[in-house]
Amino acid sequence: MVDMDLEFTPQDDLPIPFRVHECMLTEARAAFPREACGLLLGLPGRITHALPARNVHARPETHFEIDPQALIDAHRAARGGGLQVLGYYHSHPHGPPRPSAEDIRLAAGDGRIWAIVGEKRVELWEDVAGGFRAISYSLVNG
Ligand SMILES: [Zn+2]
Repeated sequence: MVDMDLEFTPQDDLPIPFRVHECMLTEARAAFPREACGLLLGLPGRITHALPARNVHARPETHFEIDPQALIDAHRAARGGGLQVLGYYHSHPHGPPRPSAEDIRLAAGDGRIWAIVGEKRVELWEDVAGGFRAISYSLVNG
């Protein structure tokens, strides 16, 4: 499978709809003390939806694994002309919203966005070759 150009630029300031931001915070609260996780969907360069998924990891208090079926379904929908899979989100119930050693191990370096919820805030990271890069965002309507 060839990924489309995700079209995030180094200067970023990515627009994130308020409702996407709120969804991630709400899901993180609801999953506590386990990690919440899900997908970030949208149009190239613009996240429009957070799609909650089951965390199927055997130790969800400290790890996450997005339900593989949710990933398959999302990629299939994208290929069929639906929203693109621009990234993922998960929560850190007991830590800051920065990539953990485990997150770094899991990173694919594929340019997707990882939103991490921790300490009641959301930080965005771009999964690029060589590691995660913090990216700035602005909350927008819509
Ligand atoms: Zn993590």
